[in-house]
Amino acid sequence: MTPKSSESEHNIPHVGHGSKHDFSPSLSDAQLIHTVMDNSQDTIYFKDNHSVFILNSKAHAMQFGLTDPNVLIGKSDADFYPEAFVRNALNDEKAIMKTGVPILGRIEKWEKENGDVVWFSASKYPLFDDNGAVVGTWGTSRNISALKNAEVELERVNKALALANTKLKELSVIDELSGLYNRRNFYDTLHKTAKIYARVRSRGLSATFSLILLDVDFFKKINDAYGHLTGDSAIRHIAQLLTSRTRTSDYTFRYGGDEFAVILPDTDLAGAKELAERLRVIIEKNPMHLDSEDIPITVSLGVSSYTDQIVDAMEMVQDADAKLYESKNRGRNLVT
Ligand code: GH3
Ligand code: MG
Repeated sequence: MTPKSSESEHNIPHVGHGSKHDFSPSLSDAQLIHTVMDNSQDTIYFKDNHSVFILNSKAHAMQFGLTDPNVLIGKSDADFYPEAFVRNALNDEKAIMKTGVPILGRIEKWEKENGDVVWFSASKYPLFDDNGAVVGTWGTSRNISALKNAEVELERVNKALALANTKLKELSVIDELSGLYNRRNFYDTLHKTAKIYARVRSRGLSATFSLILLDVDFFKKINDAYGHLTGDSAIRHIAQLLTSRTRTSDYTFRYGGDEFAVILPDTDLAGAKELAERLRVIIEKNPMHLDSEDIPITVSLGVSSYTDQIVDAMEMVQDADAKLYESKNRGRNLVT
């Protein structure tokens, strides 16, 4: 489409010519264009090839709190908008004048000095003279802030919802104090694991898994001597040692107040006892640092395995608990 034909096809009026159209003998081009420029809710502007305003609609003036659009003539975006906005608009206009190709539906963000944000959907076109030469640009822009703000709000709400959802999911299986899986998840996991091994063993395989229960020795003394908050820190300290120094993080649980559990798939009693001993030593050798003081912590452990005699999750817990009790009775800081 050449500029000439576009002009004649669309009957673009020439401001100031005052010629009358055939279809409306009582309305001049000037009257028609003033009707548009005074009443359009969208901003309409014409700029010369230096991006200086040559004609603006009333809505454009009102954007800046002005009533007379003629005040804008001779001025440019730089007199009203922030630098980034002006730069983007200038780039668009340079491209349009170079290529003659309009830019449609450009989303523009106007960040006002008072912090308000106005969003526009802007369409920009080349402005041709009678000879078809590009002499500037013109364009319209619609304030789409309400829509855009709703979009931004929706995105924010969606993100918050997704986050809340993840948190909720985690909370139902994670113990908040230690960050380990909680008691409920411990029983779930133990029952599921026992079921898997029951099936495997029913096929004649000797595969097994084990359970370690740990209980902090004389934990009440830590609470009594240093306060409950330090007691809480001790729980986190042990949880961290259990997960960071071993590869058992997926199967480590806070089972009760000062009790922890580790489920070990594909591990027999001897292997589990070995790991239990390693955990005991790690905890003994890594006291909790409190200010300049080191608070020694030890744990007693009980180990049980899924065998021909112990074929039920709850039996495993009872067995491991009995062994843990034995470790306590034998003097603590021990594995049974
Ligand atoms: P033992 O060697 O026999 O295990 O002695 P103990 O003092 O550790 O006794 P026990 O395991 O029976 O007591 C655990 C104590 O842990 C009881 C309770 O006050 C404390 N406790 C339970 N949950 C929490 C908690 O979330 N934070 C803190 N700070 N203390 C807790
Ligand atoms: Mg204890």
